[in-house]
Amino acid sequence: MIIVVKPGATAEEVDNIKSKLIDFGYTLHISEGSDRTIIGAIGDEDTLRDKPVMSIPGVESVIPILKPYKFISREFKAEDTIIEVKGVKIGGDELAIMAGPCSVESYEQMRLVAERVSSNGAKILRGGAFKPRTSPYAFSGMGEEALKYMRKAADEFNMLMVTELTDPRDLPIVSEYADILQIGARNMQNFRLLKEVGSQPKPVLLKRGMAATFNDFLLAAEHIAKEGNDNIIFCERGIKTFETTTRNTLDLSIVPLIKNASHFPIIVDPSHGTGVKECIAPMSLASVAAGADGIMIEVHPNPVEALSDGDQSLDLDQYDEVMKKLRVIAPAVGKTVA
Ligand code: PEP
Ligand code: MN
Repeated sequence: MIIVVKPGATAEEVDNIKSKLIDFGYTLHISEGSDRTIIGAIGDEDTLRDKPVMSIPGVESVIPILKPYKFISREFKAEDTIIEVKGVKIGGDELAIMAGPCSVESYEQMRLVAERVSSNGAKILRGGAFKPRTSPYAFSGMGEEALKYMRKAADEFNMLMVTELTDPRDLPIVSEYADILQIGARNMQNFRLLKEVGSQPKPVLLKRGMAATFNDFLLAAEHIAKEGNDNIIFCERGIKTFETTTRNTLDLSIVPLIKNASHFPIIVDPSHGTGVKECIAPMSLASVAAGADGIMIEVHPNPVEALSDGDQSLDLDQYDEVMKKLRVIAPAVGKTVA
C-alpha cells in the first residue's frame, strides 16, 4: 500500500509512522518530496489489511495496491468461468434466462409458467419457497411444499430450478430440490450464510444487496469462493437511491465492471431492479446489450392474483414479447437465445 504523509508533518511524526509500519510487518520504500513524504509499504496485504495505519498521527491517506478480493478476480483466473448444471451453461454464449413467479403458489401455477417459458428460451425456473418479506404479516412462502411443486414442474419441462435460501438451517431441504441456491439481496452480507453455501457444491446465485457497493458485492462473492465453491453467479437487482418512481435503481454499469473484475458470470433482474412493469422489457434488452450473461424475470400466469410482487410480474404473453425483442438484441452482442 501507499501511505501519503500529511504536508507539514514533523520529522518525529514521519519517524513514528515508519517505525509503526515496520512493527506491523511492512518493508518500506520512502520517497521524500519537497513538501511531503510518500511511503510505499510492502507486505502481505491479507494479514496486514486490518492494521490501523490511518490512525497513526501524520498519515493523510492510505491507498491499497492489491485488490481486497482474490479467488473471484480476473488476476486469479483470466478466462470466464462457465457454470454448467445438468448440461445447462451459465456464462457462455447462450443467455441464461431464469423466469418464474416471485412466490410459488401452487403446482398448477408453476406448471403453467414452466410450460410457457421453457418453450421460449428459459432453461431455469425461478420461484420463492422461503420468502424474505419486509412486513412480518406478508405472505412468506409455502416452504417445502413449494419446493416440491417447483421441482415437479421443472422436471416436467426439463428445466433447472433456482430458489432462495434465507437460513443455513434450511440448506439440507432446499438443496434436496434446487439446482441453484439463491442468496437474496437482504442476505448478501449474511456472512454465516455465505460461508455455508460456500462450503457445499451447488452453484450460488448471489444477488446484490440494496445498499451494497461494487466492492461489497465482490467481497460477498469472495466469502463464498474462499470456502471452495467456484460456481458463483452475480445478479444485479437494483439499489436504493433517492429515486422513488422505481422500486430500486437498476445499476447496469456494474455489469461491465464485474465482467472486468471477475471471471464469474453476471445476470440482471430487472423485475426487482425496477419494480415497474413497463421498465422490464427495455431493461432486459439493455442488460444484455451491456454484456449480461442472462436475465431473471418474474412471470406469473395471472399477475393480478399473485401473492407477492404481482405489480412487477409479467404475464405469459408479456414474457414472450420480451423474448421476441431479446432475440433481436442478443446476436448484436455475440449472444444466443435457446
Ligand atoms: C427474489 O428474487 O425473489 C427476491 C426476493 O429478490 P431480491 O433478493 O433481489 O429482493
Ligand atoms: Mn419478488
